[in-house]
Amino acid sequence: MSHLADLDLRARVDQLERELAHARAEDRDFAHIVSQLADPICQVDREGRFVYTNASFERWLGCSRLSLVGRTPFDAGVPKGNAERWAAAIGAVLDTGADYSYVDEFAGPNGPHIMQSRLSPHRAPSGEIDFVSVVLRDVTEQSRAATELETARNQLSAILDSMTESFLALDSEWRFSFVNRPVEELTRRKRDDLIGRNFWEVFPVLLGTEVQTEFERAMRERTASRFKFEYAPAGMAFEIHVQPSQDGITAYVIDSTEQVRAERELFEAHQTLSALINASPLPIIALTPEGLITVWNSAAERYFGWTAAEVMNKPLPFIPEEKKEEHAAMRARDLEGHGFTGHEIRRKRKDGSDVDMSVSTAPIRDASGAIRGIVSVYQDITERKRVESELREGERRIREREEAMRLATESARVGVWIYDTVHDRLRLTGTAAKILGFPDREMVTGVRQLLDRVNEADRARVRQEIKETLTRRDEYTSEYRINAGSGEVRWIAARGLAEMDASGHKVRFSGVVSDITDRKRVEEELAHQAAELARSNADLQQFAFVASHDLQEPLRTMTAYAQLLSRRAEDKLDEASLEYLGFIIDGASRMQRLINDLLAFSRILHGHERALEQVDLDPVVAWAIMNLNTAIKESGAVIEYENLPTVKGNQQELVQLVQNLLANAIKYRSSEPPHIRITTEEREGEVCVSVSDNGIGIDPQYHEHIFGVFKRLHGKDVPGTGIGLALCKRIIEKHGGRIWVESQPGHGATFRFVLPH
Ligand code: ADP
Repeated sequence: MSHLADLDLRARVDQLERELAHARAEDRDFAHIVSQLADPICQVDREGRFVYTNASFERWLGCSRLSLVGRTPFDAGVPKGNAERWAAAIGAVLDTGADYSYVDEFAGPNGPHIMQSRLSPHRAPSGEIDFVSVVLRDVTEQSRAATELETARNQLSAILDSMTESFLALDSEWRFSFVNRPVEELTRRKRDDLIGRNFWEVFPVLLGTEVQTEFERAMRERTASRFKFEYAPAGMAFEIHVQPSQDGITAYVIDSTEQVRAERELFEAHQTLSALINASPLPIIALTPEGLITVWNSAAERYFGWTAAEVMNKPLPFIPEEKKEEHAAMRARDLEGHGFTGHEIRRKRKDGSDVDMSVSTAPIRDASGAIRGIVSVYQDITERKRVESELREGERRIREREEAMRLATESARVGVWIYDTVHDRLRLTGTAAKILGFPDREMVTGVRQLLDRVNEADRARVRQEIKETLTRRDEYTSEYRINAGSGEVRWIAARGLAEMDASGHKVRFSGVVSDITDRKRVEEELAHQAAELARSNADLQQFAFVASHDLQEPLRTMTAYAQLLSRRAEDKLDEASLEYLGFIIDGASRMQRLINDLLAFSRILHGHERALEQVDLDPVVAWAIMNLNTAIKESGAVIEYENLPTVKGNQQELVQLVQNLLANAIKYRSSEPPHIRITTEEREGEVCVSVSDNGIGIDPQYHEHIFGVFKRLHGKDVPGTGIGLALCKRIIEKHGGRIWVESQPGHGATFRFVLPH
């Protein structure tokens, strides 16, 4: 049995030996593989002592296996901190029986290394943990990459947060996956309220807008787009860039409200400016720094003759050849940024005419201050130039006139004075001073000094006149006497006019003085003569009246007795005596007519003025015709008149006037029976009456003459005294009218007179 038993045992031992050999081979292979692994590997027992280390581990710690087995990391040279964490990790595996993993930083010769340690328990067949395997992995690289990634992410997030534009990311389910700080400000929601929530649920107002269209397209077609979006309710404008991302879309939202507003303002400012430029009555032109026209307003079109279309982007067309150099110098100055103000230039219009202009220029600068153009404003000064030259001419003429005036006043012995009312300064030219009895030279004095020279008889009056003129009048005229020295008194006439300042105050009086002593003397003489004349006239009138009256009496006696004698002694007297008697009677009766006419004339001349009244000319003419009844009948005269108007006058005198004219028309008839026409013509405020006849007419050389007293064109053969027309003239003059004759010998005469209506 024992043999059998031995056999069995032997077999088992062999078996075991084979298994062991296999196991050893396996173990060897395993150990070999493990030893070849790049990761450091070790096994420790429950007390933390190394039981196995591979080559990589040994290299890592810089020790040999022999020196390590049976030692703990603490006494194998592992830094204390690392060894403690190692021990704690082993403790954790032993306590929990589960795998454990941690990352720790080890100081190495080439700087720190981040090592990940994975610990796993190894159990004995009893189930008890007999040792722990530790596999280390150098994760320095991965860790750095991860840190960098984290840092990058944080940086990106910080960048996105610090941006002023909003940035948001949505996932494929339209959920917010990222928003930066500006989104919080824009939406007035916290980041945490947004992340994870559906975009359209948060902003339902955006459904149906281009935001939805563009976002969905980006999501669907995976394409980027950029669009403008105006959110009218808030008065905001945005520019949105949407881009597909790995899982959804990102949107970059730029608030362009300000920009849109600025653009609009810029546009409006531009519009206003162009309107202003075009409405300007002054030509405005802008040039590029190269001298090409960019602005040519309508006033420029009008002034220079070229249209904007003709000159745009071309050099200035109006520089005359000879002004090219001057213009180049001006442009150089402009480009230095100095510009001109009111610089006077002469330019040529399209039609070739010259125009004098004043130009002001200014540089147009960009934001950096560089000159981008030159703007010029022109003003037509042709008119100003003309006025200036006229003014110069005017001044010259005034000086000439002043000189002429000075000469004239000096030679006419008229002095000029100017009185400054504010400072009581009386300026006298040399002549004025001399006339007023001051020394013979130009001088300045006062009113009081002038009054001292005025004769005592006139002084108070003159003082009063001056005072009154200064307070109440604009004009000064006075005549007074001055004491010219050595007892001589001279008469002075002074005249002057006030000059006002802008507020209507009299600041100056200026005028002339002249010596009127001689005139005064003549005037006095004339007055004396007039008085004399009036007296002698009155005497004469008295005489004429008395004479004519008193002469009539003896004349009547003479006539009566001469007629008596001629009747009684007709048969006793011889023929010659009778003829002489006839002469006496004739002469007496002519004398009577003469006296009658003279009386009538004297009455008209010196009679009392009678008030004028409305007189109807019809009865006037009828009356005159009646008075001439006999003569009309004898001559067979025909007198025509109809519907005469009324005039202002004296009826009795008008009857006499008409009667005289009719009598003459009959008396100075031709061989034909007289045909007389009275016609009237009414004019403004007056009536013209014409008395025409078909008589012998009057030679034009006598037309004036016949209106004189005793002026006649006929001898005794035609009876008359030559007073008739003189009387007519006097009557008409008294009525404020005029009388004249139009006639040619042999063609009748027309006497016309005009009377007020
Ligand atoms: P007389 O008494 O001579 O008529 P008047 O003064 O009436 O004096 O006239 C002056 C002169 O004018 C007359 O002598 C006459 O020569 C002339 N004369 C007046 N009326 C007429 C007339 N109608 N036609 C022609 N001559 C006239």
